[in-house]
Amino acid sequence: MQKFNYYSPTRIVFGAGTRNDIGTLIKEFVVKKVAVIFGGNSAKKSGLLDLVEDKLKSEGMDVLLLGGVVPNPLLSKAKEMTKEALKFGAEFVLAVGGGSVIDTAKFVAIGVANPDTDIEEFFFQRKKVEKSAPIGTVLTIAAAGSETSDSAVLTDDVTGTHIKKGITTDYNRCRFAIMDPELTYTLPKYQIGAGVADIFMHTSERYFTNILGNHLTDEMAEGLFRDIIKYGPVGVENPADYEAMSEIMWCGSVSHIGLTGLGAKGDTPRDGDWSCHQLGMAISALFDSTHGATLSAVWASWANYVKNENISRFASFARKVYGVAETDDKKAADIGIERTVEFFKSVGMPVSLRELLNREVSEKDCEDLAVNCSYNKSRSIGSFKSLDYNDMYNIYMEAR
Ligand code: NAP
Ligand code: FE
Repeated sequence: MQKFNYYSPTRIVFGAGTRNDIGTLIKEFVVKKVAVIFGGNSAKKSGLLDLVEDKLKSEGMDVLLLGGVVPNPLLSKAKEMTKEALKFGAEFVLAVGGGSVIDTAKFVAIGVANPDTDIEEFFFQRKKVEKSAPIGTVLTIAAAGSETSDSAVLTDDVTGTHIKKGITTDYNRCRFAIMDPELTYTLPKYQIGAGVADIFMHTSERYFTNILGNHLTDEMAEGLFRDIIKYGPVGVENPADYEAMSEIMWCGSVSHIGLTGLGAKGDTPRDGDWSCHQLGMAISALFDSTHGATLSAVWASWANYVKNENISRFASFARKVYGVAETDDKKAADIGIERTVEFFKSVGMPVSLRELLNREVSEKDCEDLAVNCSYNKSRSIGSFKSLDYNDMYNIYMEAR
């Protein structure tokens, strides 16, 4: 086992009906003014927003409702909400929604604690985050794992870079996450599938590492793969299946809480390859595609591009996750990749860029994506295999 330094301070309140605990949970922080961040219409329509507002008010708190976060959330919106939250005097930031809402709330919380600094400074990492207001979440979609992660991802629509990127800091940790699987029953099937793909990918990004010898970490990751592969299609088929939706919801957190990456790089729980996330974020930045769907669209071409770096790792993935009996590593690896493609299809996710964008994809599209992903040819991504601009272009071309 390699050394690691693990920190995961989020209180998780899990199960049917836990949404009703929101008032008593926030009360522990002895705050009066709560800014509640939400997205489009889903939390209003389901009655969740009213419930949250009632519970907070009945505990004597003042509530500011700040809505309108879009999927692939924007820096400009986080800035606008920060201004409102500061005017209101927010002491606690509560996210009611999914990854987009939580990530925006994380930036608002940083902005609230640093009233003299534009949050752009933190987004572009010109300034280090050294304080933040407390954040909590009522999760409505199992996907990003932002409820337990240390990162927050936005798209820059302010300065013209048009880059989607994240910052990671322990100040991004939610103090608590209410995870009530019943809240996910209203999800469209496509969003459930995209969430399932993202959960798979948070595990895959950490699993395909060259730093081996962490048996328990591998076992946890393989168990998580098997669970999401088993329950993902059941949830997509029937979004009101409590067993499936609760398994998927907990998989979402565990896949991004750092446990499946422990020991991968000595002193940080969130090491991994992350190439597919970087490739996918460029697709979202340019085409506003759903996060999880961008990942399934590129995974197989990434896997085929990098597999020879360590074919036995791909072979053991196939054997442990899918029970593949093939003894030849190369053949087993290919079967594992094929089975994963079938899994993405089984949850309604695209497995090529053409399917994702619903149109033909040109060489110029692939160039634009590789330019965006490589920050204009200035960076490489990945650690299983380091990928430069040309590699990114080749993977996008293969993913067409
Ligand atoms: P999301 O973007 O927060 O939400 C996707 C869609 O689902 C929205 O249209 C939302 O509608 C809808 N929705 C959410 N809950 C619903 C419900 N219960 N019923 C009906 N509709 C519902 O989805 P996400 O996948 O959780 O987040 C994706 C974002 O997280 C991406 O920007 C991705 O890059 C980022 N991400 C962050 C991390 C991290 O650790 N911070 C990790 C991975 C990905 P409404 O707007 O109407 O609610
Ligand atoms: Fe993700």
